[in-house]
Amino acid sequence: MFESVFGHGRVKKVLGKMIERDSLSRSMAFVGPDGIGKRMMALELAQALLCATRNQCGTCLHCQKCKKNLHPDIEIIEPDGLQIKVDQVRQVAEKLHFRPFEGAVRVLIVDRADSLRDEAANAFLKSLEEPPEYVHFVLVTSDWNSLLPTIRSRCQRIAFQGLRIDDKIQILESRGIESDLATRLASISLRRLETDEEAWLLFEKHADMVLSFMERSAEEKGVPGQLANLARDKAELPGFLDVMLLVLREGARVSYKMELEPPLTGFGERIQSLCQVVDAKHWRQAWEACGSFCAKRRTNPNTALWFDFFSTNELGNLEGAKAEFKARVQRGQ
Ligand SMILES: [Zn+2]
Repeated sequence: MFESVFGHGRVKKVLGKMIERDSLSRSMAFVGPDGIGKRMMALELAQALLCATRNQCGTCLHCQKCKKNLHPDIEIIEPDGLQIKVDQVRQVAEKLHFRPFEGAVRVLIVDRADSLRDEAANAFLKSLEEPPEYVHFVLVTSDWNSLLPTIRSRCQRIAFQGLRIDDKIQILESRGIESDLATRLASISLRRLETDEEAWLLFEKHADMVLSFMERSAEEKGVPGQLANLARDKAELPGFLDVMLLVLREGARVSYKMELEPPLTGFGERIQSLCQVVDAKHWRQAWEACGSFCAKRRTNPNTALWFDFFSTNELGNLEGAKAEFKARVQRGQ
């Protein structure tokens, strides 16, 4: 579930469990920094609630309409200009009294709920106080404290983590780093804030290695041993795996026709040509496989073996690769 949102594993788990146990709060607030996927998660949640299987099957009529943003049981209120206006709230509030058009529930998403002020906030509060049983509210905000206390007290708060890249840039600039380098460093500050140009050069080296590895794997259907030395290099390996995750994620994004983001914009052509041979599903599988390998790596030292499997299965058969990998580890090979 929630596949089009990258990251936020903890939030996905919490929401998934609530849906499974049918214990989802009717009024929730997604709170966290801007630009990290809260609104998208709200839309995904709406799809999960409306799906005929309640599991975001992706194929039922509800899921199809949700994907095209055409489901009549999802309403979105967002600022018109700087604020959400009282008329916008009233219009939607009236509709909430009608039963769902097609699904089992109606979902109202209030994006930038902190821009609800005064009259609009009070009008919204009325809807929130006595909602019909089929209505789910999801408020999306980066500023929890600016919501009316009476709105806050009626919402279950779901916290999203993440430092905005702008914040990172600002911090770096405040340390005297010039703007262009600060932007580049912020975009590669995955585990910590990078403050040295050396970190950028190392990132470029790793991105080149990851792409070469993938290009050769795709060309020759597997290049075992290519990353054996790196797999043994305890100092360099974590950084390399971070970059590998980033490349796989960007590959998935590009194959979904999304725009390439920094820091990999300089590698656009190579990622594009890999997209000719690797489709979105396999980029995604590869990204997830790499993520779960990284999470378990401490208890599993067979990095070289994992690289080999990744390579020989040309990003196309990772399930098979994982099973084979597991079997070999169990046999002690
Ligand atoms: Zn469905």
